[in-house]
Amino acid sequence: QAVLQVKDLHKNYNGNAVLKGVQFDVDKGQVKAVLGPSGSGKSTMLRLMALLEPADSGEIHLKGRRIGSKDHKGHTLHLPERQLAVQRQEIGMVFQRFNLFPHLTAVRNVMLGLTSVKGISHHEARAQAMDMLKKVGLENRASHFPSELSGGQQQRVAIARALVLNPSVMLFDEPTSALDPELVGEVLEVIERLAETGMTMIVVTHEVRFARRVANEVTLFDGGVIVEQGAPEQFFDNP
Ligand code: ADP
Ligand code: ADP
Repeated sequence: QAVLQVKDLHKNYNGNAVLKGVQFDVDKGQVKAVLGPSGSGKSTMLRLMALLEPADSGEIHLKGRRIGSKDHKGHTLHLPERQLAVQRQEIGMVFQRFNLFPHLTAVRNVMLGLTSVKGISHHEARAQAMDMLKKVGLENRASHFPSELSGGQQQRVAIARALVLNPSVMLFDEPTSALDPELVGEVLEVIERLAETGMTMIVVTHEVRFARRVANEVTLFDGGVIVEQGAPEQFFDNP
């Protein structure tokens, strides 16, 4: 059963076609690794799926429902921003550069979506956020500001912030490529454990060994299209 379906997605920037008809399904519990050269449109594809910007044309369906604010001809459907915000919580996004609010502590960063979009009380939001920080091993860093945390810890806060909204799918955009090498492992471990819980996810990564271990499907991206897709064993011969 497809959780996320992308149909014929196109995106141009200043007349340059960056996505040229991307099409795929992500099934429930599937872990899809996306590999491809820099500049091939991987990030753009994730941003469109996360509803952070509109596609020029094409469709995105979440659990069988059309989402986003453009119709198939690229016309604006005039969804209120509030409705987009509600759709966005279903799709967790983790960026290369964490994107935490610097003036908020770790727990406040995780609480924000709960109080602002879900309308959950401050008290309950704090409890849920603490619970999620615990799951990523950061319960004793809750009152730290991002600047007081390592890159690996900041990225784990960012993962907690997405997870606390109870998304149907998690998107990771090169989640370890901004980290010092010694901090990569702790973040990959959190992602791997999440995969083991059956979370549906798409991970754009250059960590080939990680992709081989965790993904059950590999997608090769180049020049704004999917050039190959298949089981990890097809792509990586050596264990
Ligand atoms: P990847 O994630 O595979 O490295 P991106 O999706 O980041 O690729 O970028 C694909 C192409 O789109 C690049 O040529 C990039 O310069 C361009 N691009 C991405 N975002 C924008 C933007 N907001 N404005 C203009 N060009 C962009
Ligand atoms: P216009 O009505 O001028 O075409 P849009 O509705 O396309 O404007 O976009 C206005 C803003 O709303 C965008 O900058 C973007 O932040 C957000 N937005 C619009 N469509 C989408 C979408 N499909 N997914 C996510 N955000 C969107």
